[in-house]
Amino acid sequence: MVRQTLNICTLLLMVNTNILAREGGSKFSDTFADLVLTGGTVATVDQGMSIAEGIAIRGSRIVAIGTASEISRFVGPTTAVIDLEGKFVMPGFIEGHGHFMSLGRSLQILDLSEAEDWDEIVSQTALAVDSLEPGQWLYGRGWHQDKWKNLPEKMVDGVPTNERLNEIAPENPIIFGHASGHASFVNDYALELAEINPFTPDPLGGEIVRDSAGRATGLLRETAQRLVRRVSEESQSKISEELKLSQMIDQVRLAGEMALRNGVTTFHDAGTDLATIKFLKRLEDEGKLPLRLYVMIRGVNDAEFFGNLKGSLALPEPDDFLVVRSIKTQLDGALGAHGAWLLEPYEDLNSSEGLVLQTLSDIESIADAAIENGYQLNTHAIGDRANREILDLYERVFKKNSSTGEEFRFRVEHAQHVHPSDVPRFGALGVIASVQGIHCVSDGPWIPSRLGEMRTRRTSYPWRDLIDSGALIANGTDVPVEKISPLASFTASVTRTMNNGELFYPAQKMSRSEAIKSYTINNAFAAFEEFEKGSLEVGKLADIAILSDNILEISDERLPTVKVDMTILGGRIVYSRG
Ligand SMILES: [Zn+2]
Repeated sequence: MVRQTLNICTLLLMVNTNILAREGGSKFSDTFADLVLTGGTVATVDQGMSIAEGIAIRGSRIVAIGTASEISRFVGPTTAVIDLEGKFVMPGFIEGHGHFMSLGRSLQILDLSEAEDWDEIVSQTALAVDSLEPGQWLYGRGWHQDKWKNLPEKMVDGVPTNERLNEIAPENPIIFGHASGHASFVNDYALELAEINPFTPDPLGGEIVRDSAGRATGLLRETAQRLVRRVSEESQSKISEELKLSQMIDQVRLAGEMALRNGVTTFHDAGTDLATIKFLKRLEDEGKLPLRLYVMIRGVNDAEFFGNLKGSLALPEPDDFLVVRSIKTQLDGALGAHGAWLLEPYEDLNSSEGLVLQTLSDIESIADAAIENGYQLNTHAIGDRANREILDLYERVFKKNSSTGEEFRFRVEHAQHVHPSDVPRFGALGVIASVQGIHCVSDGPWIPSRLGEMRTRRTSYPWRDLIDSGALIANGTDVPVEKISPLASFTASVTRTMNNGELFYPAQKMSRSEAIKSYTINNAFAAFEEFEKGSLEVGKLADIAILSDNILEISDERLPTVKVDMTILGGRIVYSRG
């Protein structure tokens, strides 16, 4: 069992040694590079956090790193040279905890939240309908009439009526959710499918909004939304395998584009079922994965399940796009919904200490089996009780295996509220705290209402204490819960400036270099991939993000303006701004 872990590392070590050997073991070679980046500030994120001026890349790997003049030796007649003009170069971001297919699904739904008026929504709709087959549903969300700069002439109840959508999409049912979640806007075709006519009564707790002539305008309030949602769900469950597959391929494409545009070159997927993993494996074989995925298996309910996992383990290979070697379990829920498992009752719900979603005994037998079969275990734990219980459980399992734990690299996903006495246990047990910097600043304003001020200060997002006590912090966004932007999460990690402008216990913030590591080399380590990626070093994959500014040095105020200018994946330019 221990051997399995070592094998993976040794394998990667061999890959690296081969490359170094090919270069005669020296830092430079006389052979030219395919691509040279020069004239920038290159943050290598190596052991010494050294800074260079350029990088030479051959094939998918880095062959040299150094000063501009050192790198110039690699420029031959066919070498592509990019003058960085002082830009900032760093290892490609690794998203430490997100949901890849859900990100793709969320992008298939029209985002109407930025629309400035009804005309804009109508043109967004027209564009989207163009690529649909007749009968296919069009989903949108996030519209809000209070955000519009001007209003259409014909309105009922402060909202437009659906005539223009009917003209554009006579053959596609449309359903656009309101930003509040309390209403939906639909076209006539959707009303027809839901059999809503002038005689349909309003459902209990809902309203079918009608004009003075009694015609439904398209606005459905509260429970009336269900009349149409039900029909759309029914039709979704009946779509052909072929269409389902093409939708999934589209989700992978959309999620990939969004990730690469944000400088993300590897994505840790926090829980996917075996059928989807099989689909991803096929895409990897066909060379169609847009970026590198590290996927945790979801739906493992007991140790018996490991019988079904045969063949689902996808061990690292050189130039890998899909690695599957970890299991995701979920101990508690989320704090907002009073689901996080706490040591003491909620401040605003005295009857509750939260929820247990998967029993400790189930997780323990899965943990035993994970070690036996060479899998890493990553458990969702948000509340302080959940964090304590999972650390206890991991500790027991490590002891059974006569191990101090480091070799297994088990993770706690979120590690959000941790009792001070449990904080040092992460470092001591080699358990990785897989946090989301961005959650801290978006949830910060309401956390004290759930936990009270004192408990919030003592237990919430204790990054400084975790790092100081020897824990390794992995960072991410939990996309699509938050936007995928690593720059936004990096900024949150180093400032803890909440969306309301106030600071959330800033003593616990990370330093710039800790935060950059939490998004690169630490996430690589959290996936047993630190020999392949996470820093810019000779022999490693040329997975690179180029940013407009030096995020290690510019002021806090300027951080939100930084842009990703270019993303390079395995030596290929896969995104370029403008
Ligand atoms: Zn998640």
